Amino acid sequence: MAQSWIMLASMALHAAAAPAPPSSSIALSIPVNCTIGGQCLVQKLFDHDPTAARRDYRCGVLTTDGHDGMDFRVRTMADMRAGVAVIAAADGTVLRVRDGEPDISVKVRKDLNGRDAGNGVVIDHGNGWMTQYSHLRLGSVEVKPGQRVQAGDRLGLIGMSGNAEFPHLHFAVRLQDKSVDPFTGPVGSTDCKGKQAPAGSLWTSRAAQALSYQPTAVIAVDLAAAVPPASVADRSAPARPQQRTDPIIVWADIFGSMAGDMQRFRIIGPDQQSILDQSKTLDQGHLSWFSYAGRRPPEGGWKQGRYIATYELMRGGRIIDRGRSEMVIR
Ligand SMILES: [Zn+2]
Repeated sequence: MAQSWIMLASMALHAAAAPAPPSSSIALSIPVNCTIGGQCLVQKLFDHDPTAARRDYRCGVLTTDGHDGMDFRVRTMADMRAGVAVIAAADGTVLRVRDGEPDISVKVRKDLNGRDAGNGVVIDHGNGWMTQYSHLRLGSVEVKPGQRVQAGDRLGLIGMSGNAEFPHLHFAVRLQDKSVDPFTGPVGSTDCKGKQAPAGSLWTSRAAQALSYQPTAVIAVDLAAAVPPASVADRSAPARPQQRTDPIIVWADIFGSMAGDMQRFRIIGPDQQSILDQSKTLDQGHLSWFSYAGRRPPEGGWKQGRYIATYELMRGGRIIDRGRSEMVIR
């Protein structure tokens, strides 16, 4: 009896020393097990504009109207097939899960029967905080409702189920059922000038560092023997040039292009011979931009040897990002 009293007294003291306000903050780690800027990229952020316009936390346009979370993408369909883990952003208890939805682009599937999130997991972190992980790969969900998870525990794999046109995780944070941008916290004030994450950021310092703002990026550059489909979901594994008589096409997938940007495609063949050097100024900005350039083989076919293709995106005379791919024709 006496012991219970002591325990109660010590619990009361502890509670008094560290009260937990109902909406105390939360520290989030990155919810995917890949390097941002390496295998994964952040393609879309939370929309802070209440109108039909769009504004991310840096007052840029890396979002779509009403986007209530952020998208962590892999670069290609092959990356999705290889499997990139989705992991818990903080400790909590699994509230809901769904699996069984196919990884088919919404452009093809069209009717989602209200299952826009596709396969997913919702975690309750206490104090009104929840995180949701959507568009997971079919058959990949590894947790069950009621299960305790810790930050970093595997939940499933990045997929393309539900309302998705490319393989990605839609990561949403909610406080008392209200959507919150993890970069600003519930206060939601955007910072158009700062270089660091805004003061209200929910990210751990390590996560914030890895998630520096990148409004434009080259996602993938590769070579193909024929013009590949524009949609990444249809571009499963485009055949690369094999024969000396195949056309050589270099294609690029980028996000966040802006009006006035200049792109440059180049292919250098054996003996440093320039096969292609084509530049174009983009007259419009695009959240997703796919383009290509290529050459038919010369009379008698290509020389045997190594071909190196590069793609550069330039803004104001400066290279914003670039990609490269190479192959050998035998
Ligand atoms: Zn999304």
